[in-house]
Amino acid sequence: MKRIHNFSAGPAVLPLEVLEKVQAELVNYRDKGSSLIEMSHRGAEYTEINELATQRLKAITGAGDDWEVLFLQGGASTQFTMVPHNFLAPGQTADYIDTGSWSSKAIKEANLFGNVHVAFSGKERNYSRLPGTDELLFSENPVYTHFTSNNTIFGTQFYSEPETGGSLLVCDASSDFLSHPIDIEKYGLIYAGAQKNLGPAGVTIVMLRKSFLELQKKDPIPTILNYNTHIGTLFNTPPVFAVYMVNYVLEWIQKKGGLEWFDRFNTEKAYLLYSEIDKDEFYRGTVDKSSRSKMNVTFRLPSEELEKTFLSEAASHNLVALKGHRSVGGIRASIYNACELDSVKALVNFMQHFRAEKG
Ligand SMILES: *Cc1c(COP(=O)(O)O)cnc(C)c1O
Repeated sequence: MKRIHNFSAGPAVLPLEVLEKVQAELVNYRDKGSSLIEMSHRGAEYTEINELATQRLKAITGAGDDWEVLFLQGGASTQFTMVPHNFLAPGQTADYIDTGSWSSKAIKEANLFGNVHVAFSGKERNYSRLPGTDELLFSENPVYTHFTSNNTIFGTQFYSEPETGGSLLVCDASSDFLSHPIDIEKYGLIYAGAQKNLGPAGVTIVMLRKSFLELQKKDPIPTILNYNTHIGTLFNTPPVFAVYMVNYVLEWIQKKGGLEWFDRFNTEKAYLLYSEIDKDEFYRGTVDKSSRSKMNVTFRLPSEELEKTFLSEAASHNLVALKGHRSVGGIRASIYNACELDSVKALVNFMQHFRAEKG
């Protein structure tokens, strides 16, 4: 069997051992004569998975008893609405850090509910860098401060949490959740679509702090969009297949050595790629060095013509899904947790040959 070197931004590569485990037990889960995804979500088998995944997420992130874990549907995009629907009342203000397309989408939704104060916007410079601490201008008393930890499209990343004026952070961590340690004490809510760094598409992880939930609005909220509806019980059918796979990915993360291990691993991969980019002028990183993402490495070549050739020749070397997002152009190598070191080495090797030939 030949697997590609997969640099897809999402849905993205998954650990082979997880895929094989699911494959092996797919049609006959634990000798039950059926797959897990043909069973009731209220049965013992799925209940155990839901519980294990919850406990693993808490253990990996260091979240204590003050935290709830929810497995919701609708993608991270639904959280753009659900967060202000629950927490931002008319007349109240939430602070948002605008560092890319996903942040802007979150801001657009929040504007439907209350006041949005944009604490920083990187838009004028086409989102090519993140704010320094002194560039963040917060409002007086925000209900929360929202940020996007990794900007999947532009290729920038917060390595540590932005300082706020005192409010708790709400984070869209869709494209770097569990790629490095976080300071959980600073957060009120973290959400992440699974399909980049955690599993297949179909489930959104929401980690929600109980003390933050106390700030929930008093106005009526549609039942399915109310976080409380999903706490302590399954309100409706969860995406069982996605949660089942996420649970194995979490097990794999723990076995490897948790967030410290992945931090080192992801730093090593990113270093290899950025070093190659920085060797001379042939490859050109698209964002400020201090803001570079260790998950989505974005760069350009001297011409669009060469970029096209790069992509097609890369594909013939088994290096796949490297095309940049249409709003940035160029090349994007997404190197999430499950991207192997060998894949990055193969890409660097190809980049060297390509430069030698065309540079
Ligand atoms: C992909 C992505 C989204 C959108 O996720 P959906 O699950 O497709 O709604 C939101 N935010 C970030 C940072 C992303 O990378």
